[in-house]
Amino acid sequence: MADIWQQTLNWQPLVQQQNQFQHFYEFILEGNTQLNLTRITEPLEFWEKHLWDSLRGIPLFPIPPLFPLSPQRGGEFSSPAFIDIGTGAGFPGIPVAIAVPNCTVTLLDATRKKITFLEKIRDALDLTNVKTLTGRSEEIGQQLQHRQSYDIALVRAVGAASVCAEYALPLLKQGGLAVIYRGHWTEDEKTSLENAVNQLGGVIESIEKFTTPLSHSIRHCLYLRKVTITPAQFPRAVGIPTQKPL
Ligand code: SAH
Repeated sequence: MADIWQQTLNWQPLVQQQNQFQHFYEFILEGNTQLNLTRITEPLEFWEKHLWDSLRGIPLFPIPPLFPLSPQRGGEFSSPAFIDIGTGAGFPGIPVAIAVPNCTVTLLDATRKKITFLEKIRDALDLTNVKTLTGRSEEIGQQLQHRQSYDIALVRAVGAASVCAEYALPLLKQGGLAVIYRGHWTEDEKTSLENAVNQLGGVIESIEKFTTPLSHSIRHCLYLRKVTITPAQFPRAVGIPTQKPL
């Protein structure tokens, strides 16, 4: 897949990273027998829908336009702190941790079993930049040690866009970026997301539409920038963001 990585993301994994991807895949297949992790198990499909898709969304790829991560720090680029909200089987967080060794990635999921599984993978792959957290993002987002603490929040396949925004924005530092991965996206959805994001102290910075390199499926990434402090009432109590989306 070296050529496709190069053509699409202007990047190629080193041998060690290729081995880590391979081992990750094997762990997922094994874990799938006990935990319901993913329906995507064919090698090429796994590569495209899990590995490639995870990395396509992050703002460090392609290499040159490094996002100014934190204006307070003069936009300097140093060891960004990612949080992957509702990581499930480790997407997009584990591929990001493999591809960007100078970042730290906190994997957050409400299901303890999934986090225990990911801790095994982390240790086996020697991913020293990965941290884990079990809990609901509505609660974690109200905890002082996590609120306003991350440069980049990743949210894939967790819920409606405005729900993902309510989970992500409280956890970001001012100037931080939320990346919401989606399949379909329409202009109509933009207005309601805009309204939610405004209440949370953010703006929609950009929406990218792209096609995946093997099956040519349409995907979108929504990039939300946190421009001001998130009001204390967000995120609301567990379950409320999904029951009454902003
Ligand atoms: N991001 C992964 C998994 C998606 S499945 C992927 O793209 O493949 C959604 C996961 O989010 C589940 O594992 C579920 O436990 C978790 N989840 C859902 N709502 C959550 C919340 N409010 N806080 C933390 N985890 C949540």
